Amino acid sequence: MQFIKSSVLNFLALFLLLVFGFVSETNAQQPGGKVHEDSISVITIGSGVPGGCFANRAEEMTVIQNKGRYIVLDCGYTSVMKLMKEKLPMANIDTIMLTHLHADHSSDFLNLMLWRFLYGGRKLDLVGPPNTGEYYKFFKTFYKDDIMYRAMVFNTTTTEGALKGVKVREIKGKSRFNLGDISVETEAMVHCMYDLAYKFTIDGTTIVVTGDTSYTKKLVTFAKNTDMVVMDGSFILYALNPPKDYNFDVSGLLARKYDGKTYDKYKPKPYSGNFLVESHCNYADLIKICAEMNPKQLLLTHLFHDIYGKGIDPQTDELKEKVRKDLKSAGFTGEVYFAEDGLEVGVKK
Ligand SMILES: [Zn+2]
Ligand SMILES: [Zn+2]
Repeated sequence: MQFIKSSVLNFLALFLLLVFGFVSETNAQQPGGKVHEDSISVITIGSGVPGGCFANRAEEMTVIQNKGRYIVLDCGYTSVMKLMKEKLPMANIDTIMLTHLHADHSSDFLNLMLWRFLYGGRKLDLVGPPNTGEYYKFFKTFYKDDIMYRAMVFNTTTTEGALKGVKVREIKGKSRFNLGDISVETEAMVHCMYDLAYKFTIDGTTIVVTGDTSYTKKLVTFAKNTDMVVMDGSFILYALNPPKDYNFDVSGLLARKYDGKTYDKYKPKPYSGNFLVESHCNYADLIKICAEMNPKQLLLTHLFHDIYGKGIDPQTDELKEKVRKDLKSAGFTGEVYFAEDGLEVGVKK
């Protein structure tokens, strides 16, 4: 009933806004509002691999919530729709961070920037690997007229949060900086696109978000004994039926021809894609690295959707049980969570 009432009111507000454009800025608010039980939590808004959005999982977006303040990490396709569905207040997003520039982690950036601004988001820290600034520049030049028109309709009275007030920070490898009272460290991972892992320290609680990565000792050192690790868990898909041969053979891929030519002369530029490395941890490596990091809480995300077309998510109860068992056998002692779109996990100190 409450939902119906607020839907009608929202519709009326939107109607007035579009037709007359006289709604004051304070009324141009996003409907709803999420209530959080924990002062620090992690929410997997989009938990899928590329193309997951065409089935049952939006592409990647992880949100760190701290007393109603939001840090958004990555924004793959349809993640912004899920963010709105979860009723997270866009105005309280003060930081957007990109782990890497693959489309399944960044293609909703334009929607995120626009709707955050229209729903009252102002000053923003934008953090990511090299070239992140180019994406923001594209947003504010290509969409300038659109931003201005919508700013008028929404009566925002300022362009702060869209055309100005956005601080871009491009990161290479190891670094350390503060976002207000949250301290952040970074480390480069191993992926076919330059990928950064982020470590947040909030009131003594530590959270690591890996982005996409294959096995690297650097991640073990970076994330060892932290409170929570949000990990690329793609290949738990094979927990019940691991492939016999784990050898990663890139030569087969690189021998393929495009427009009559192979990629054998492909030389990746620094901080761009490197097709020569394994992109994700295979199942055995995933179990090994999670046990070596041994965080108190492990949240596995970037999970496969209904690729078999069976109408069920491949992360069945049986599969989850097998992953838990294998982690335990490898020496992992913490708690394990499997991401769903909209799953919120309170971070324990
Ligand atoms: Zn990727
Ligand atoms: Zn990905």
